[in-house]
Amino acid sequence: MRDGGQPVACIELDRFCEHCAYNLRTLPIYLDERTGIPIVRCTECGKFQSANDTATVFRPWLHRVTSLALGAWVIIIIAIFFWLGVAETAITFATLDVLTIRSGTQIQRVGGVTIRNVRGSGPLEVWNEMPGYGRFMAAILSASAGVAFLNALLMVVVMAHWRKVAYFATALGIPLAVAFAAAMIWRSEAPHLLGWSFTYILIHAGVNILGGIMGVMFGRPTARLAVRIFIPPTLRPRLAYLWIADGMTLPRH
Ligand SMILES: [Zn+2]
Repeated sequence: MRDGGQPVACIELDRFCEHCAYNLRTLPIYLDERTGIPIVRCTECGKFQSANDTATVFRPWLHRVTSLALGAWVIIIIAIFFWLGVAETAITFATLDVLTIRSGTQIQRVGGVTIRNVRGSGPLEVWNEMPGYGRFMAAILSASAGVAFLNALLMVVVMAHWRKVAYFATALGIPLAVAFAAAMIWRSEAPHLLGWSFTYILIHAGVNILGGIMGVMFGRPTARLAVRIFIPPTLRPRLAYLWIADGMTLPRH
């Protein structure tokens, strides 16, 4: 078979060259002159192969393993998003925890280090003279934004098939759910400081939303950069969807 004949169809799904792993999607399918078997020619390495996906005895097993792996993949993804949500809640709660102190607690400073000398047993109070307040807030809010960014980055990379509106809805929805959960937990800890806690819960929610929006906007460009830095060119076609999802094509190496 040479390229003389007319294409009968084209590859419409992500299929990878058996020789070089190049993505064969959109390439024309020809019928072999002698056997009539549909074949496709890889434009990357030039080799011919069957255009038929069920060509080998390994396929049924491959399908079974693929189904299992897909199931495991979904579970892992759900677990990762769950724990990132838990992390955001924990960061918000930790802020409230650090900024409050039990009444009766005696504070001592030894060589610039603050020690809670005697732990008070009274009700929680706002720790107004907490040393290093500014630095603590900067660190904890950075952590908050970072987790939200990571969460959104994973979302736009793993759920590349979602619409933009779904990304923004999630980037807004998760921080609101986190704020609600943190408020519920804090209410059982210190109901009398619930009103005070709203300021910090809302600041965290705002930072989470901001980090999430940044993740939605810059997540895939970041992932593409990481692919170009860390993934060798022959494996990149498998990640071509990171480009296709944004209407681009995988750059040639
Ligand atoms: Zn090839």
